[in-house]
Amino acid sequence: MKRSVFYISLFFFFIIIYGASLTVDHNSRERDYLYQKLKEEVAFYKTSFSTLSILSEIFLKKIKRDEYIGQILYNEKDIRKINKNIYRRYKDEYQILKKYGIKKIFIYLPDGRIVLRFHNPEKYGDLYNREQRANISYFTQILYKGKLVGNAEIKIPFNSARNLLKKTLPAKEFIFLIKKKYLSFKEFDGYIQSEISKDYYYSFASNISNVISNINLKLRDEIVENLKENTNFAVAVKKNGSWYTVSFISIHTLFTNIPRELGYLVSYERDSYIWVIRRSFWMLFFLGNAVIGFILLLMFYRFKEQEKFEKLASIDPLTKIKNRRKFNELAEHEFEKAKRYNRPLSFIIFDIDNFKQINDKYGHQVGDKVLKEIAEIVKKNIRKADIFARFGGEEFVILTPETDIKGAKSLAEKLRKLIETNYIEPIGIVTASFGVTEIRSDDKNIDDLYRRADNALYESKNKGKNTVSIAL
Ligand code: GH3
Ligand code: MG
Ligand code: MG
Repeated sequence: MKRSVFYISLFFFFIIIYGASLTVDHNSRERDYLYQKLKEEVAFYKTSFSTLSILSEIFLKKIKRDEYIGQILYNEKDIRKINKNIYRRYKDEYQILKKYGIKKIFIYLPDGRIVLRFHNPEKYGDLYNREQRANISYFTQILYKGKLVGNAEIKIPFNSARNLLKKTLPAKEFIFLIKKKYLSFKEFDGYIQSEISKDYYYSFASNISNVISNINLKLRDEIVENLKENTNFAVAVKKNGSWYTVSFISIHTLFTNIPRELGYLVSYERDSYIWVIRRSFWMLFFLGNAVIGFILLLMFYRFKEQEKFEKLASIDPLTKIKNRRKFNELAEHEFEKAKRYNRPLSFIIFDIDNFKQINDKYGHQVGDKVLKEIAEIVKKNIRKADIFARFGGEEFVILTPETDIKGAKSLAEKLRKLIETNYIEPIGIVTASFGVTEIRSDDKNIDDLYRRADNALYESKNKGKNTVSIAL
């Protein structure tokens, strides 16, 4: 019983240790994978967007260096004429930029009046709105003769950037997540509150599938802390039976002229590799536990078998008390102890009287019953420290540690009376004869005590049986 508790505890202990180390290992595997993926994504998006930056910057530089533009902005007072001339001069180049998603290009005067919108050349003269921040912008001043004569600005809405990515990576979903405080009222219209956090909005909700919304809802609590950091991170989510990896890339890492906390480009991708990692965890976990469980079970049964075998080898099968082999083993030890510490030790031997007759008259089975009953009586009436064994046939011995000859004699007398007064069906009264001795300083081993006690027993038999004799 105690042994099985030990093995079960060992098994659970192993499960905990193994499970914990496996978890640590698998968590770091998953983390490494997500981190690697994030790095690749950042590199890819950076390259994709660098086209936008390069084209925008080249175009603005060209405008800035164009003497003609400076001159006309400096000299011409009629905005309509400036509008027509600049538009005509750069119309073809604008068409090319438009193909790359660069649509909104503004030229406006130092006082803020708009001279030209390339995307809407018919509308001009109104004031330029500098408030808009939820986009990627490139800006240059236009100088002529050392004086500021105008400004040129390119604005790329996040949605254009998103569409550009969607075109190259159609299997992924993208969202630009913008912090609420960076959205002006005008821009607010095109944005919708994100499920991820009340502080973040995203543009063009109609493009977002149900799955993405649900993933966002699921991530909500998990990423609160990450969002505060404004750094890139990636997570794995299970939704509708599929695994997704979701990367949050701070827009600042893609366009450095954008404030650090403005928001994130979030990408969603179905990713079965996450499941491969997790499945291998459970496979290893169950396999490992099954193997160790099996080994422990084998060990347990082996131990049980051995225990059973040892018990068999030391117990008398009929009376269930110790056999001679076990007695000798224990007695030797007691003998050494008593000798070394000079303690009393006594030896009692008893033999059932006229047992042969019982066997002959009532049969072997009744004889066996007598042996069992007498063993039972004696077992109940001796101390736990006493060593009681069947020596063979109908002969029993009791070794009584810490007991001198006086004590041993009265114990033998007590047992003799108990046997004598016990009625056994169908025989009636059965008696036994006793021989008792005590350890002597010249005794060499337990056999010396046995011999003396046996002599005393022989004396009891000679005296007419059912009696106790002492040998000193
Ligand atoms: P005494 O009074 O002098 O001791 O005579 P006894 O008949 O008891 O002694 P003896 O040694 O002549 O006979 C012992 C008998 O015990 C012989 C043997 O058949 C029987 N015996 C030995 N072991 C067992 C056993 O396990 N079961 C049974 N039923 N009988 C046994
Ligand atoms: Mg006998
Ligand atoms: Mg005998």
